[in-house]
Amino acid sequence: MSRFISFLACAFSVLSLMAFNSCARRIEVVQVFEPQTIVEQPIIFRELPFLNATQPKEKKLIVIDPGHGGKDFGTEAPVKPSFKEKNLNLVTARLLKGYLDQMGYRTLLTRNEDFFVPLDKRASFANIRNSDLFVSIHYNSAPSVNAEGIEVFYFRTDNDLMRASASKSLADSVLKYLLDATDAKSRGVKHGNLAVVRKTTMPAILVESGFLTNEKELLKLKDPAYIKSIAWGIAQGIQAYLNSEL
Ligand SMILES: [Zn+2]
Repeated sequence: MSRFISFLACAFSVLSLMAFNSCARRIEVVQVFEPQTIVEQPIIFRELPFLNATQPKEKKLIVIDPGHGGKDFGTEAPVKPSFKEKNLNLVTARLLKGYLDQMGYRTLLTRNEDFFVPLDKRASFANIRNSDLFVSIHYNSAPSVNAEGIEVFYFRTDNDLMRASASKSLADSVLKYLLDATDAKSRGVKHGNLAVVRKTTMPAILVESGFLTNEKELLKLKDPAYIKSIAWGIAQGIQAYLNSEL
C-alpha cells in the first residue's frame, strides 16, 4: 500500500513538473517574443516616411546589358584555365546593379545568368520597358597584345540628334569616372555602329572596360577588387550624368 502511495506521489510530481514545464515554455515565449515585436514596430513605422522623403519621386530605370552569354563567349583570354568575357561581363553587371540600386535607381538586367540573348532582343527589352538609360558591359580583345585601356561607344546619328547628344554626354561621364576609379589608360569616347546602341531608343552606351589579350591588364581584371572599381566607376558616371540632367 505504502508502495502504491509513493508511486502516486511520484506520478503526481512528474505530472506537476510537466505542467510547470509547459507553463514555463509559455512564459518564456511571451517574455522573449512579445517585447521584441513591440519594440520593432515603431522603428519600422518611423523609418518608412524618412526613407520615402529622401528618394526621388520618380526613380530612373536603367537597363544593364551583360554582353554575350551562353553559346556566345565573347572574347577569351589566351590563358589556361580559360577566362571568358561573357562571365566577366555578368559579374561586372551584377556589381553595377548593386551600386545603382543603392543609389536609388531602378535597374534591370537583360540576362542574370549564363544564357544567350540575341542583340535585337536586348535593345527591345529596354525599349518596351521605356528605360531611361541603357548600358552594355563588355571587355575587349585585339590582335596586338599591347592594346590596353578603356573605351566607351555610343551611336552617332543625324536622325535623332537629341539621343545621340545625350548618349555622348553619358559616355563622357562614364569614361571620366571609370578612369578616376581604375587609373586605366583612356582610349576615349567613340562612335560605334553596334546593334545594341543603334537599336535602343534612349541614351545608350557600350563600355569596353579592358583587354583580356593584354597580359598586364588581364592580371588586373582577375582581381575582384579591380572589377568592383570598374562597376563603381560606371555607377558614378551614370549618377553624375543623371544629376546633370535634373
Ligand atoms: Zn564583347
